Amino acid sequence: MTFNDLGLNKLLLKAIGEQGYTEPTPIQAQAIPVILQRKDILAGAQTGTGKTAGFTLPMLELLLRSKHQTKQHQVKALILTPTRELALQVEENIAAYARHTPYKSAVIFGGVKINPQIVALRKGIDIVVATPGRLLDHISQKTINLSHVDFLILDEADRMLDMGFVNDIKKVIAVLPKERQTLLFSATYSDAIKKLSTQFLKSPTLIEVARTNASSETIKQAIYHVDKTRKRELLTHLIKEGDWQQVLVFTRTKHGANRLCGQLETDGISSAAIHGNKSQNARVKALADFKAGKIRVLVATDIAARGIDIDQLPHVVNYELPNVSEDYVHRIGRTGRAGNKGEAISLVCVDEDEFLAGIEKLIKKDIPKVWLKGFKPDPSIKAEPINMGGNRGARNKPRGGGSRNSGGRNGGGGSRRR
Ligand code: AMP
Repeated sequence: MTFNDLGLNKLLLKAIGEQGYTEPTPIQAQAIPVILQRKDILAGAQTGTGKTAGFTLPMLELLLRSKHQTKQHQVKALILTPTRELALQVEENIAAYARHTPYKSAVIFGGVKINPQIVALRKGIDIVVATPGRLLDHISQKTINLSHVDFLILDEADRMLDMGFVNDIKKVIAVLPKERQTLLFSATYSDAIKKLSTQFLKSPTLIEVARTNASSETIKQAIYHVDKTRKRELLTHLIKEGDWQQVLVFTRTKHGANRLCGQLETDGISSAAIHGNKSQNARVKALADFKAGKIRVLVATDIAARGIDIDQLPHVVNYELPNVSEDYVHRIGRTGRAGNKGEAISLVCVDEDEFLAGIEKLIKKDIPKVWLKGFKPDPSIKAEPINMGGNRGARNKPRGGGSRNSGGRNGGGGSRRR
């Protein structure tokens, strides 16, 4: 199947060509025709599958086909995402796909000044990508008009529920027109997701693509058994020996991310940390430096790394295994995208054996084990309980982060005209 077969407007085909996409991914091939029929969908797909284009392209197509297309810029599509990083990335993708259309998009999230967002909204925006908390601020201040919304997209809905956004989502939906198309994307089908979909979706078509990230042939996975106290030494060894130039490293806690980052710097490896306690500007800068190759290692917690999209990221390291098995799948899905080869290595100490068993059960396969010479674990060391740190807590405080920062394109409310 080609994009031409999907019946998309030439303005969209042009943008797709410029992105270098030759054929639709499985989620796109399945979702686009259904969305074009104006049906609601409940899609099991995670980041890395091409889901953003999967909902954006048909949405733009339907906007182009609709009569009221260019007359007035009013919010016609609303995309809710769990994190600022994902909101930024989704809007960046929308901007790329919509570049030859008349539609303007903007991103709205907390932790930055609200005024630039108000100014952008006043000028007229067609597509808004938002995190729920800040969007509710705009709703209550009446600085956004959502009465013309035709499309509601809940992106990474499971994550939004995890982060305690369920009531915020309901409050947002309450102010939307009843007549609309709703598309829900979620990596998992929990009972909470099912409940949400029965409440807000109209006879949705179910779409599921294989968990490509977990089973992908393109991701080489390995477990390196090592003592906890020697993980840093092993990581430095792997980076230096393998001459790795771009590595995303996951830690369980924010404190752990900071500490590891400092240690790697001491070892002569340029690194930066991103997590919920960093200002928005610091996070955006760290990601930009990492993408540009100015730093070799980005150390991240799960929440901060959510949805990070880096083309051809070759190495992902789990410095600590996540205690939630699903997070392993999300983490390693940052590599091996769109057919590129990637390597996902986990440094596992005796304390983490249970987490490993849970992960292997989830992905239904054994991950190859490596005992590297010179780093073999000391068999006399016994397992100890794991300190979870503050990271899980951060999920329950998604709107933290204060208002220290603003400015730049990410001062929130940057809108674009294409
Ligand atoms: P997403 O799952 O939406 O975050 O997309 C993951 C990555 O796949 C992004 O880097 C997209 O640019 C890329 N992508 C999306 N659609 C295609 C396609 N049809 N062909 C190749 N790459 C794609």
